Amino acid sequence: MGLSLLALAACNNQAQKEEKSDQKTTIAMETGQDPHSYAKADALVKHLNWDASVDFDSKTITASAQWDIEVKEGAEAIYFDIYDLDIQKVTVDGVESDYQLGEFDHHLGQGLRIPVNANSKKVSISYRTGDDARALQWLDAEQTAGKENPFLFTQSQAILARSWVPTQDSPGVRFTYKAKVKVPSHMLALMSASNPQSRNEKGEYEFEMPQAIPSYLLALAVGDVYFEAISERTGVYAEANLLDTSAYEFADLEKMVQAAEELYGPYAWGRYDLIVLPPSFPFGGMENPRLTFATPTILAGDRSLVSLVAHELAHSWSGNLVTNATWDDFWLNEGFTVYFEHRIMEAVYGREYSEMLASLTRAGLQEAAADMLKEMPNDTKLKLDLEGRNPDDGVTSIPYDKGYFFLRLIEETVGRDRFDEFLKNYFQGHKFEVMTTEEFLDYLKANLLSDEEFQQIRVKEWIYEIGIPDNLPEVKSDRFAKVDAALENFMQNGALPAKEQSDAWTTHEWLHFINSIPADISIEQLSELDEAYQLSASGNSEISAAWFQPTIAAGYEAVYPKVESFLTSVGRRKFLTPTYKALLEAGKEQMAQDIYAKARPNYHAVSRETLDALLNFSE
Ligand SMILES: [Zn+2]
Repeated sequence: MGLSLLALAACNNQAQKEEKSDQKTTIAMETGQDPHSYAKADALVKHLNWDASVDFDSKTITASAQWDIEVKEGAEAIYFDIYDLDIQKVTVDGVESDYQLGEFDHHLGQGLRIPVNANSKKVSISYRTGDDARALQWLDAEQTAGKENPFLFTQSQAILARSWVPTQDSPGVRFTYKAKVKVPSHMLALMSASNPQSRNEKGEYEFEMPQAIPSYLLALAVGDVYFEAISERTGVYAEANLLDTSAYEFADLEKMVQAAEELYGPYAWGRYDLIVLPPSFPFGGMENPRLTFATPTILAGDRSLVSLVAHELAHSWSGNLVTNATWDDFWLNEGFTVYFEHRIMEAVYGREYSEMLASLTRAGLQEAAADMLKEMPNDTKLKLDLEGRNPDDGVTSIPYDKGYFFLRLIEETVGRDRFDEFLKNYFQGHKFEVMTTEEFLDYLKANLLSDEEFQQIRVKEWIYEIGIPDNLPEVKSDRFAKVDAALENFMQNGALPAKEQSDAWTTHEWLHFINSIPADISIEQLSELDEAYQLSASGNSEISAAWFQPTIAAGYEAVYPKVESFLTSVGRRKFLTPTYKALLEAGKEQMAQDIYAKARPNYHAVSRETLDALLNFSE
């Protein structure tokens, strides 16, 4: 529970603003249970009718958001979250209404207060998005794969939905929605809802999401994309020249959905489709219901990076069905999803394969936690405290991977049968509900763990204390042990891994090999590896990003052109941050700044926010 009181100057709609300009009232706008939303529990939204027109020339969306609301006796106003929206008109039950805006906060935007009472049923807000609409990325044609048409996509998580829809932007508030969206006639519009599979001449599309979702799952993509079915209920959208590649890469989609259903119960959302976005998309994927948004950097050509799809699919249960109540409880979304992702990968590709993934996860977690303990130790707790901060600060490997290993420890302690039964009941028993860390712990005690088991696992230490407890589960991978031996042989004796051995390596074995390269490797040795295995030329984004680490650190100049072309063409933050950091740590500050100046216009606001801070950039 957090209260951040803001004293606010009331700023009414245009006519009244002039009328009252000399008698400014001050209203207090405070946040409710969720420190990242101005919404209050006594007046909540239930359903949205969104009517919008997308204009690529002015890079704005003009829309009206008509909300069905429920107001408790005694409540005097309903509060919405907005960020850089130009509010044109507000009506309550069809009658034009007064409204007040709160003071602007860099993270939260503004509160929008609309007077209502217990009899009020509908609030309608007409508005236009601003230049600083942080969820939206408007791409010019040359930033797309086809290079002929522009593209628009949204990224609403964590609190960016408010920059394109006035909403109660808390994961704890759910609503259903319908939408009508007008776009240029040669383009297709898609949402986190029922979706068209082909264009219509007018460029007018209708959508429906009959299951209640929180606003961070509101999503829109508009582009020159086409659909290809993979199975009856799954398929992929992509630009024409990426469509076949994408359909090949995601051929196992149906198998994954079936594996997930067998584990934790029926898929609740109807269709499961995926859209491949342009490379500036800031994340690997976003679990928008019915339509996962994905980066094209997972198109490796050999299906080796599809664990990301398993991850987004798993969110259909963990996160989308049972949702973290606030961003402080983010591990409930992500830790469960990483656990579930590994189980899907195990079911579809076998334990040996999924243990390679778990081993990479473990190594990455230990490295990240060691760094974070120096700079921001409190963020290594599973239960976060993000009040007054950007909730995006909580997106580290802690909620994901420490969360995963905490759940894996529970599984290993109680046995898989008991844990699976528990998880299935947890998802089915709390669907379309929100969950706090504390409610989950109560549920865990009441339905799974004995007092002894609870103590043995050291549950409280995992959740509320910094660092990684020393009962972190071990992961054994025989395949990685062979890679270790090959690397050792190279470093000690100069013998390159035999061709028949390295040819059989998967992406994961290569990642383990590269990540294990010792800091004292010489430029000659790096060059030898590069010549033998063409690592600088790799078309696999994970391998490229991993390879940048030892090579930049060693000052291996042959990799610089690839670093520059990668950073200027890819916008996925997971790759950008460590690569820029490596440049800074290697004393290549100027090179980092030069590349960033060129690349920044191609990055989404989410990536820019992180990198501006890292590179001390100001506009
Ligand atoms: Zn996730």
